Amino acid sequence: MRVIKTLPDAVARQIAAGEVVERPASVVKELIENALDAGAKSLWITAAAAGVDLIEVRDDGCGMCPEDAKMAPKNFTTSKIESAEELFRIESFGFRGEALAAISAVSKFDITTSDRDDGEGWRVTVEGKFDGKNEPAPHERGTTVRVENLFFNTPVRKKFLKSNVTERRRILETIIGFALVSPSLELHYIDDGRRVLDLVPVATWEERVAAIMGGTTMNHMVTIEADEPPLRVSGFVSLPTHTRANRNHQYFYVNGRLVREKTMIRAVQEAYRMVIPFKRFGVVVIAIEAPYEDVDVNVHPTKLEVRLSNERRVFDIVRRAIKKSLTANSEDQLDVGYKTNTSGEKAEGNSFEVIDGGVSETPRSLFSGVREDTITPHSAHYKTRVRDAVNSYFEEMPPPEDLSPRLSLQAEEGGKKKESADEPIDERIQTDDALFWQFNNSYIFIQVRGGIVVIDQHAAHERIIFDTSKTQLESEIPVSQQILFPITLELSLSEFEVFRSTKDVIRKLGFHLEPFGGMSILVRGYPHGLKNWDEGRLLRYIFDDILNDKVPGNSHAEQIIASFACRSAVKAGQKLSIEEMKMLADQLFAVENPYSCPHGRPTIHRIAVEDMERWFSRR
Ligand code: ADP
Ligand code: MG
Repeated sequence: MRVIKTLPDAVARQIAAGEVVERPASVVKELIENALDAGAKSLWITAAAAGVDLIEVRDDGCGMCPEDAKMAPKNFTTSKIESAEELFRIESFGFRGEALAAISAVSKFDITTSDRDDGEGWRVTVEGKFDGKNEPAPHERGTTVRVENLFFNTPVRKKFLKSNVTERRRILETIIGFALVSPSLELHYIDDGRRVLDLVPVATWEERVAAIMGGTTMNHMVTIEADEPPLRVSGFVSLPTHTRANRNHQYFYVNGRLVREKTMIRAVQEAYRMVIPFKRFGVVVIAIEAPYEDVDVNVHPTKLEVRLSNERRVFDIVRRAIKKSLTANSEDQLDVGYKTNTSGEKAEGNSFEVIDGGVSETPRSLFSGVREDTITPHSAHYKTRVRDAVNSYFEEMPPPEDLSPRLSLQAEEGGKKKESADEPIDERIQTDDALFWQFNNSYIFIQVRGGIVVIDQHAAHERIIFDTSKTQLESEIPVSQQILFPITLELSLSEFEVFRSTKDVIRKLGFHLEPFGGMSILVRGYPHGLKNWDEGRLLRYIFDDILNDKVPGNSHAEQIIASFACRSAVKAGQKLSIEEMKMLADQLFAVENPYSCPHGRPTIHRIAVEDMERWFSRR
């Protein structure tokens, strides 16, 4: 009996589409690549419902003649290569001839295009199936590709999409990836009717990087340059005073193509080693140009990975170029950055600016173990001094939050807890001080009736904050405490988008924030009793978490709360007073789900007397 059959064409195309079209952002990527390959100078990108309802990319490139337009959505049709040999020196973004076929197989798809100047154009439409025809439709020279109802016929793939917020962020990241290296490209991006990006062509690469990374970040970046034929390296890297908690702000390009390239990633890591703290990352935009034949772009369906023929050399050149710039620029550049952003008067006046992400300026409790001696040029010292002065000023004042115990977050609780601290705690826990003991500055041992309870202080506090914040979101008016000197945080474009999408929830938690022109926000207050505020870095961590999509949660709000809980909770390794331990235990047993943290890790472990009796063979 014959069992092997050829799959119907439509099914085969849907399967193949899975490789190229994983999510809305991959569609955006392919369409932008096509537009750039067509020589476009301007792009208008429109999305609706995070790209699921609509993705439209209009360009002013060369357009297609009517016959080409009919060919384009078919599989393996490309104008870019003609023979196998050419595969070994790819100069265009596209070459596989499968993107449009793949996208049109999983969406309601049309292309309107013209290669003429008289306004006459033609449209081809594909709805799951292509009839191979085109119809006249007016269009200026260039092409508009419309992708509606993505994955309408592949419900499983649709189901695997993340939240709209995540997919939207990925689209933005994709667009940024192109915009960042194309200063002369005009680019507009409208998302659900909102203008997210309006980038005008600029004369220098630096101006474009600044437009996307933010001016403050740019002031803390230095150029890198190396010309060692046949390789050329250029770009911008941040000074050691300006680091991030992850690689979100590291962009690598090989011959203009944004890639995840492990050699370059390692070279950056190596160049920054010893000058920035462990688990911190520089902001980098690095482009290498290599002979096309030395770069194999045909190793990954979405061309995100490439294979470089001389990895060792690339590694050396990139690493050396960064090191050279960091060494040459550390002192004077820092001064420039400092002057533009936090002049002395400003710092001592009534506004205190935190330099973007510069954790190395003031190592805080969150980063104990940071070796600051290697990372503080003199101007950074000065900044630290000013900040210390401000901090000690705060310490001299009777701190209002001292009334509320360190571990309470909510103001109403802070008030109540003041009395309750003297009251008997949960009856399961005996209140004698001697029965609370902190082990390894991380675990709280409490003697209870019938045994010992061990609490993981971080996980427990995380749970408490998570649950109380959730209740607070549902209830009412947030209670915040005003900051004496409001803080300005300048964000990158992607962080600013996260701010936009999270601000309602964040405000409800008790942060008092407002947009402050450009990509800056002004913070006037934070949740009452909050401890790990870290001069604004807490917010940046939360934005980063959301950007990285690493936090658990069934909804966007839950993710924000989970990140807030994790970032603001007491850390493992932080010494607690007996009072604080009691408070933590007390609050933990008052929440609805005391036994696990929002990540699902246990918070409490019990050791019963019987267990101990068993250990010692008494039973
Ligand atoms: P590839 O880019 O790998 O060649 P695609 O399926 O993405 O394959 O596109 C098929 C062909 O359609 C391209 O080779 C190009 O000739 C044409 N094309 C696609 N998009 C555009 C556009 N925006 N402007 C002009 N031509 C285009
Ligand atoms: Mg293409």
